[in-house]
Amino acid sequence: MANSDTEVVIIGGGAAGIAAGRRLAKAAINCLLVEARPRLGGRAWTVADAGGFALDLGCGWLHSADCNPWVTIAESQGRTIDKSPPPWQKPALPIGFARPKQQDFAKAQRAFYRRLEAAAQNEPDRPASALLAPGCRWNKLIDAVGTYITGANLERVSARDFDNYADTDVNWRVVEGYGAAIAAYGEGLSVILDCPVLQIDHHGRRLKIETAKGAITADQAIVTLPSALIADKEFLFAPVLPEKTAAARGLPLGLNDKLFLKLDQAEEFEPDSRLFGRTDRSATATFHLRPFGRPLIEAYFGGSFAAELEAGGERAFHDFALAELKRLLGAKFIHRVKPMHMHRWGADPFARGSYSYALPGMAGCRARLAAAVDERLFFAGEACSAHDFSTAHGGLLTGVSAADQVIAVRRRKR
Ligand SMILES: Cc1cc2nc3c(=O)[nH]c(=O)nc-3n(C[C@H](O)[C@H](O)[C@H](O)COP(=O)(O)OP(=O)(O)OC[C@H]3O[C@@H](n4cnc5c(N)ncnc54)[C@H](O)[C@@H]3O)c2cc1C
Repeated sequence: MANSDTEVVIIGGGAAGIAAGRRLAKAAINCLLVEARPRLGGRAWTVADAGGFALDLGCGWLHSADCNPWVTIAESQGRTIDKSPPPWQKPALPIGFARPKQQDFAKAQRAFYRRLEAAAQNEPDRPASALLAPGCRWNKLIDAVGTYITGANLERVSARDFDNYADTDVNWRVVEGYGAAIAAYGEGLSVILDCPVLQIDHHGRRLKIETAKGAITADQAIVTLPSALIADKEFLFAPVLPEKTAAARGLPLGLNDKLFLKLDQAEEFEPDSRLFGRTDRSATATFHLRPFGRPLIEAYFGGSFAAELEAGGERAFHDFALAELKRLLGAKFIHRVKPMHMHRWGADPFARGSYSYALPGMAGCRARLAAAVDERLFFAGEACSAHDFSTAHGGLLTGVSAADQVIAVRRRKR
């Protein structure tokens, strides 16, 4: 791409950017989507394993599936929706965690959520960890599960923001991959791949978007970069937009990483069952056994523990997972498992984490990040969502909303 000109530039080709592009294209607005990676999808990414199974390294669950727009989109693409219940809505395997103890834990966790809900909308906001019952033996495990939900340990998370998350508790999956469905939704859009945006110059009458492949002039831009990148790149905008940088800094990306392991003689386990690593510490993993009934294990890591392992490279994840499985299932078991795929989202320069959470006192940053500037710069992405943040459908809905704002401004100015 040399220099070019368009009506609207969309920066970032994940769920939000693709959804914005589809909306603008439908309204016959000329738009160009600029993506840093060599692929569309962003934090939605499906890869195939050697056996041809689709593995989602990023989003995998259609959360709030009964009202999640990706369900209809994936179905219209001819994909299969799996509606079997997720492992966290069933008892875990009683290995290292007997059923009565699981019930005791579930009771303590429900009580924690009730306290959180009761306190969350009161002033002042506080860390979610403040709502743990002092001395409760399950606090570490409640924290570990908290890291799977928000990507961060409870002491870092705003109780109000945690409570603002809306979930209908219906969770489905796309058999051929959630990431594949999201990327395919971008087909037919005008896209430039491998093209990081370096700066958004909004001094002049028209915007000038500096990219690694040249400059693009445009009337308006929809910025869908992950909040961690907006927080880091103070000079992304010229002139600078300190209020955007500050809002993004209130919404760091938590960290979650998945490690897929191949499993021999998998039939020993029920499809979609689950095993907890440790129940007495936050630094642990959960193991989803036989996802979709496949001969695989998906190990899930979150929060500061995932960050610690990332520092040691993929090997650190393999070693930890194998040691946990050995402890739980015996020394022979680990000869049946082989590490296959993973992605370190914290080390990924175009994500720098997995999904956003709000720091204590910072729940209001979502609305501030989402607010348009000067009727020319619009913002979308999961971190901008008031209630569906951290999800791929949250990304989609903010992308559609930003595109609708662009359409409204253009109609008014015509
Ligand atoms: C391990 C993991 C598990 C998850 N599980 C779930 C789940 O089960 N269900 C769920 O709903 N969600 C889940 N999520 C979250 C979900 O994937 C994200 O919320 C969603 O994909 C974010 O979409 P987005 O468009 O807001 O951001 P992104 O997908 O991050 O899109 C932003 C785009 O901007 C691009 N970009 C970055 N820098 C530049 C630049 N300088 N110039 C141009 N482009 C740039 C990026 O490459 C990216 O494509 C998970 C995420 C991870 C990592």
